[in-house]
Amino acid sequence: MGYKTKIAIQKIKNEDVKTSVFSALELINAKELMQKDNMIVLLKPNILMGKPPERGVNTHPEVVRSVIQWVKKFNPAKIYVCDSAGGAKVGITEKAIVDSGIGIVCEEEGAECLPFEKSERKIYKIENPLELEEISSSKLIDDADLIINIPKIKTHWQCTLTCCIKNMFGTVLLANKAKTHAQAAVLDRFCSALVDIYSVSKPQLTVIDGYICMEGQGPSSGDVVKLDLILAGYDPVALDSVVCKIIGFDPSEVLYLAKAEQKELGSTDLEKVEIIGETIKDVYRKFKRPKLKPISMPLPKWLANYLGKTIFKATVKFNKEKCKLCSTCWTNCPVGAITPPLEIKKGNVPKWDSKKCITCFCCVELCPHEAVKFKINYIKNALFSWMGLGCIAFLAVVSLFFLWIQVN
Ligand code: SF4
Ligand code: SF4
Repeated sequence: MGYKTKIAIQKIKNEDVKTSVFSALELINAKELMQKDNMIVLLKPNILMGKPPERGVNTHPEVVRSVIQWVKKFNPAKIYVCDSAGGAKVGITEKAIVDSGIGIVCEEEGAECLPFEKSERKIYKIENPLELEEISSSKLIDDADLIINIPKIKTHWQCTLTCCIKNMFGTVLLANKAKTHAQAAVLDRFCSALVDIYSVSKPQLTVIDGYICMEGQGPSSGDVVKLDLILAGYDPVALDSVVCKIIGFDPSEVLYLAKAEQKELGSTDLEKVEIIGETIKDVYRKFKRPKLKPISMPLPKWLANYLGKTIFKATVKFNKEKCKLCSTCWTNCPVGAITPPLEIKKGNVPKWDSKKCITCFCCVELCPHEAVKFKINYIKNALFSWMGLGCIAFLAVVSLFFLWIQVN
């Protein structure tokens, strides 16, 4: 029998997160990674935006606390807890750190909580790139002796699931995330970019927050699910695949997993996984899916781009009642497709330019008031695309031809 990667699944009982985190790490023998003296350890939770723990958007602060406490047992020289929140506004990560409850936990536990954008920057060249030649990230990625990924289990509008691989998108600094969205506007290419980013910031260990999760229209406006789970392991692709199975999805639905496997970051083959602790069956809880079902397009880049920008194009709508004209959407749209209304007053909403929009869903994801909704009308999009018009013209010519034959 070949080598099997270990994944521990532990239930959280009576809100005791620490016991579950510690026992999951013990089951996979994670202390083997902590043999060096004076280690610099970098923890990467998901700090997407300024939302409280009970909303299920960011990694739960008690999971972060438990991982810090576990690391502290090995007397590290320094523990950093870092992320770069969604959006490009200066100060947005600091706000998210405070509102998520992670800032205070770090203070209490003596870890340094730092927005990645406040650390020294470094440009990383990507080996064998699928989409990105290089990324602008933090030098801490290089300096750390150990990186521990602490993602949360959430559904995702665009990518179906956000967990291990997707969480490392947060190592890309503020506005550079928008640039990545703009460059890799089609889902297939965006998934390639996610895998390139992961290949640079590759953590040695992952502890998954499956405590308070999100289903449906995640990663920020879905419904909260109290799943009460912790998973720990080494292979991010296997971990994401196990998470898929737990929440009733198929790993093949998550496009970046096959790409990560192609880049030899791990395996989706669960025959190569040794699951310790609970079984998938024991903890199964079907999650509501996001409205969008991504379609893989093994097509030439130009055709995939064309289809992504026509057939799969969304119409973005703003809810007048919910919108607080906070400016998040227009300051963060990567292509400037959203502008403020002429007058900032209640009842007005931002303006959306369908020609510029690349359907990246950043506005939906980042609106703090859940005021942005989208709709994709595939039939209308197809009919009004050049390809649709071409097909209609072709059918019209063929029909006229047969009519002419019949008449004559
Ligand atoms: S739609 Fe949301 S993000 Fe945009 S201005 Fe309104 S409240 Fe802010
Ligand atoms: S309008 Fe929204 S979906 Fe369109 S490009 Fe801007 S942020 Fe992305």
